[in-house]
Amino acid sequence: MNIKLPEKVTYLINELNRAGFEAYAVGGCVRDSILGREPEDWDVTTSAKPEEVREVFAARGIHTIDTGIAHGTVTVMIRHEGFEVTTYRIDGDYGDARHPDFVRFTADLMEDLKRRDFTINAMAYSETAGLVDEFGGLADLEQGIIRCVGNPVDRFNEDALRMMRAVRFAAQLGFEMDEDTRGAIPGLAPNLARISAERIQTELVKLLVSPHPDKMRDVYDTGMAYIILPEFSRMMETAQNNPNHHGTVGEHTICSLAEVPPDKVLRLTMLLHDVGKPDCKKTDGKGIDHFHGHPQLGAEMAGRILRRLKFDNDTIARVKALVKAHDDRPYPLSERAVRRAIYRDGEDCYPDIFTVKRADILAQSSYLQHEKLEYLDEFRAVYDQIIADDQCLSLKDLAVTGSDLIDIGLSPGPTIGRVLRSMLDDVLEDPSLNTKETLLNRYRQGNYSQ
Ligand code: ATP
Ligand code: MG
Repeated sequence: MNIKLPEKVTYLINELNRAGFEAYAVGGCVRDSILGREPEDWDVTTSAKPEEVREVFAARGIHTIDTGIAHGTVTVMIRHEGFEVTTYRIDGDYGDARHPDFVRFTADLMEDLKRRDFTINAMAYSETAGLVDEFGGLADLEQGIIRCVGNPVDRFNEDALRMMRAVRFAAQLGFEMDEDTRGAIPGLAPNLARISAERIQTELVKLLVSPHPDKMRDVYDTGMAYIILPEFSRMMETAQNNPNHHGTVGEHTICSLAEVPPDKVLRLTMLLHDVGKPDCKKTDGKGIDHFHGHPQLGAEMAGRILRRLKFDNDTIARVKALVKAHDDRPYPLSERAVRRAIYRDGEDCYPDIFTVKRADILAQSSYLQHEKLEYLDEFRAVYDQIIADDQCLSLKDLAVTGSDLIDIGLSPGPTIGRVLRSMLDDVLEDPSLNTKETLLNRYRQGNYSQ
């Protein structure tokens, strides 16, 4: 097995070797190189202690940064590019299912590889030693298997996040979890409650934007969803007896994920677009289920869920708006009705909302699917025309501003906002009214009196 290491990595390894230390590329970069994928970063593992790494490179005038000295990591800067060089280490006991109680440095590469999560992540490589593959990582890569290094129960007990990582790597690589690895998860999933929301968020997003977001089904089947996203478990358990659907809310959700591009906001939106359904479900006299009000409730729930998972405010706002708007269907498809919808939904939802709506339809049953897609195409065409005409859709496009109103004698205060909104309301009805002269004349004629 030959791997083409970047020149700078070869240099790093050679310099450490020359000073009498072992050094290898390790982990994700070895895995990705074998798979023919471009590694995100190149990590080096070495028998040199952190201060020895510093000395080796200081002697050559190369800058190093103490990134995580306690964990043995020094970043070596080679022509403005940083490489993490970490001393071989043994992780002490994991009292809390999260962090080792201590880390100890070792001179034995095998000890370092043993502490890593999966066989495919536990290979090391150097040009002189070739591939070091003590745990069958290469065979697992070839067969598409995610397998813990050692006993899965022990490994998941040490660090509960590894359970999410197992599914995440399966989703990124299109692999399956080995039976024992998968089998260890249901009993230990409750330990995920002790993992920080930030670390869970990272794994969840990587899974969602992967080529196999349908692995969310494994998150449910293994019991992890009950802990990290109980709302998703409820969706998986909510049937929808309705001609528009052919599966549970959760199955529909899973299908819809793959119908949007691998973008964080779009995938989170699909994940949560129907999260309000379980609480809105009403069965009519004929046994048909209805979910009135689910977009509104869903948007509120999405906000709470994403805050709990510590997402940033911008992501939360965008997902909430898309969830709220996902079922808005202006009718008839006049420019006027579409302008109203854009105003109601928020301009920022557009044009992403069309991607969301299409995915939603494609993940529904074939009942009226053709008609639904035709409606959507027409909706989009009307929207495109409105944008091409540069029509006014919000206060910032209005021909009159607050200071125009002050200039003609209104006093600053809430009245200004009310008048502007009334003007916008008229302009949404009839865009030809959007000139300063017309709107101010209408004001003077008493159209906007309070
Ligand atoms: P990517 O960077 O694409 O997410 P990666 O394999 O590089 O994948 P990182 O999280 O960057 O993953 O970790 C680098 C390496 O450190 C892994 O390949 C693995 O060997 C080890 N590792 C990371 N997290 C853990 C963990 N929680 N338990 C055990 N080993 C881990
Ligand atoms: Mg990495």
